[in-house]
Amino acid sequence: MITEERLPNWLKKRAELTPERVAVEFEDRLYTFRELDELAEENARKLASVGLRPGDACAVLLRNHIDSVIMIHALFNAGITIVMLNGRLTARELGWQITDSESKWLISEEFFSSKLEGIATDIPQTEILRKEKIRSLPVTAESYSQAEFLLSDAATIMYTSGTSGKPKGVIQTFGNHWWSAMGSVLNLGLSEEDCWFCAVPIFHISGLSILMRSVIYGIRVVLAEKFDEKVANEMIMDRGVTVISVVSAMLNRMLLSLGEQRYPEHFRCMLLGGGPAPKHLLQECTRKQIPVYQTYGMTETSSQIVTLAPEYSIKKIGSAGKPLFPSQLKIEVDGRAALKGEPGEIVVSGPNVTKGYLNREEETKRAIKNGWLYTGDIGYLDSEGFLYVMDRRSDLIISGGENVYPAEIESVLSLHPAVFEAGVTSKSDRMWGQVPVAFVVPFPNSQPAKAELIDFCKEQLASYKVPGEIIFCDSLPRNSSNKLLRRELKQWLEERG
Ligand code: ATP
Ligand code: MG
Repeated sequence: MITEERLPNWLKKRAELTPERVAVEFEDRLYTFRELDELAEENARKLASVGLRPGDACAVLLRNHIDSVIMIHALFNAGITIVMLNGRLTARELGWQITDSESKWLISEEFFSSKLEGIATDIPQTEILRKEKIRSLPVTAESYSQAEFLLSDAATIMYTSGTSGKPKGVIQTFGNHWWSAMGSVLNLGLSEEDCWFCAVPIFHISGLSILMRSVIYGIRVVLAEKFDEKVANEMIMDRGVTVISVVSAMLNRMLLSLGEQRYPEHFRCMLLGGGPAPKHLLQECTRKQIPVYQTYGMTETSSQIVTLAPEYSIKKIGSAGKPLFPSQLKIEVDGRAALKGEPGEIVVSGPNVTKGYLNREEETKRAIKNGWLYTGDIGYLDSEGFLYVMDRRSDLIISGGENVYPAEIESVLSLHPAVFEAGVTSKSDRMWGQVPVAFVVPFPNSQPAKAELIDFCKEQLASYKVPGEIIFCDSLPRNSSNKLLRRELKQWLEERG
């Protein structure tokens, strides 16, 4: 008889193995694995008292907080699939995700009161529970606590950032989370002294995956409600943090605040992901001997899938590295394998990769073929198999038959001292088909001339990549994950006529 693959309930197992170790530090209070397990069990019973049952889908709209960590484990205990909602979304966007995921319940908190009022009428099928109310619920004698997790069961549903279109609900199974944690630890190694600083949102896979690793590895997580570069640096300097997950904007701010100080020896790893990493930032880290591991991943791969091992951080600067141990990667061009150095679509597989999008059969079929996920990102492998991520396929510009990657132009423009940031899209052109157009946000009190910026690009880029037009603006359109929305830049252009 074939039995389904299963593992013991992670938090319960961890509480049995190392009950006294610190699981979470939040606002200077420490919670051991034993405490976390007890609190999760207590809350699972409270949720059972109002009718949540195994198999239900429950949306969660909570900030980074110890109560949210407890709630996530309580819901896992109770056999409930968690729909992780991004608190920065508007009421309308939240209402859409709650309805799309068919969540029977929504757990939230006072902080989101006005959003909750805004969505209440949009989600008549969903019962709203505030965490403040859950506190006073009775603890039932009845427990639905899951002693085991089936690896094929959906643990979480997480929506993609919606950078390239409408967000899609990614099904992340217990097996996906487990293997993601395994891939990371086989790369980074593990010491019981490890301590991961989590100031990235737990509603994103970057944050949630840290919580999963904490219980699976038995390590302390210092959880911050919000990112603050001074606090992050202090945690590394004086509070024993050995690993931190960041995106480049966070790293930028940490470096500025760090000045000429150096991080201590015990600091092992700065995991940098979420989007392209500007080369000058990586170079600055090398200069300051900061152990930066560039990573590439997405909601669909339940966190990092490709990471640059430390011994290559200088030699392969700019590369996202090689696929983690359990995963595989190939680059495809028109259905064939790309040659070394030839850009094509990044295609990945592995036990950390989602089995598909929730209720989106067509999109799932389009994205996953023969067990391989077509990421929609373009990149190439160098002669030693290191991945370089170039851009999203949907943002590719074809000018006079040549491929132009907006990220490359943005990165060059952002090196100009008067440029705070830049976003590139394209407009149609009779001669070349398409030409790149750059939207530029200058630093306050800087007024670079358009011609100067064009000359700057000409010095560093092939002529077909040089923007045909520069447009100054006050800010760039970004989504709730702070990612640049190039499709909106395109709309801006169209509106200008
Ligand atoms: P949507 O799928 O709805 O358009 P999204 O792709 O932005 O949204 P996420 O899953 O949060 O949603 O982001 C993953 C994407 O981020 C990757 O597919 C890739 O485009 C980008 N990304 C992640 N890491 C890197 C990296 N190291 N370099 C360049 N891009 C990266
Ligand atoms: Mg995506």
